[in-house]
Amino acid sequence: MKKYGFGVDIGGTTCKLGLFETTGMVLDKWEIPTRTENGGENILSDVAAAIAEKMTEKEILKTQVQGIGIGVPGPVTSEGVVLRCVNLGWDIINVAKEMAERTGMPVKVGNDANVAALGEMWQGGGKGRKNVVMVTLGTGVGGGVITDGKVVTGSKGAGGEIGHIIVNDKETDPCGCGQRGCLEQYASATGIVRMAKKKLDSDSRESALRAIDPLTAKDVFDAAKAGDAVADEVVDDMTKILGRALANVARVVNPDVFVIGGGVSKAGSVITDRVKKYYDEKSFNSCLDAHFELATLGNDAGIYGCVQMILE
Ligand SMILES: [Zn+2]
Repeated sequence: MKKYGFGVDIGGTTCKLGLFETTGMVLDKWEIPTRTENGGENILSDVAAAIAEKMTEKEILKTQVQGIGIGVPGPVTSEGVVLRCVNLGWDIINVAKEMAERTGMPVKVGNDANVAALGEMWQGGGKGRKNVVMVTLGTGVGGGVITDGKVVTGSKGAGGEIGHIIVNDKETDPCGCGQRGCLEQYASATGIVRMAKKKLDSDSRESALRAIDPLTAKDVFDAAKAGDAVADEVVDDMTKILGRALANVARVVNPDVFVIGGGVSKAGSVITDRVKKYYDEKSFNSCLDAHFELATLGNDAGIYGCVQMILE
């Protein structure tokens, strides 16, 4: 009998939902708004209603559903308890239990960066491998660490917070987390623009970047590809910091593959090639053969990973 799974990636403005066959084939994708008012009290009932509606529409019975996987933008314990989610208005809430009660189906919950990593391991850039580190270069830097097919969650759900590895003792600007010198301050889209502006201020050379306002990370990569020396140095600095940080991550979890995703990764192989170069320079011997791949599932990685969670 065909089995189905639902993936629900809850974000601060919309929830992405997906109906999958458990083989990994996606049958339907849609979105509903995330109602964050009143402490986000409607979010789970809205999701439950959306799933019930889809099951009626597709004539799917509860017995045909393997489960519902949910990704949330905050720390989650391995039991599915969310420990505060500022973007959703949530305090501590047992999402797995509440959702199972609402739907009468098995539910698994994970952090959004971790489920994206599971998605890429299952059907994306890490397909076929079991030891995967995913790095999402977006507004911030997200991380997901998978060893032997399992997400490293940690005692408080903070496992895999690669974006907040300290890479610079001398940084004076604060990171969103309160520390100074986090990887995210250099390797995120915001970080790349910050670094580019610093370089333009301290450097008198001509650069195409000077005429661009507002400057984006994409502009920096495009200018570097077009031969702009200043932009190229910004890209070089960013990939060096990231490559070295990942060489240290490899010393802890020794992955088969690093999957690089997020908006910044659209710059393409220029990122993976250069990060790999700097990674190799600082790599521990037995970690040298790690692969660097671009993520392939884009914004859908989360819903894929949600479904992967419920497969066992
Ligand atoms: Zn930080």
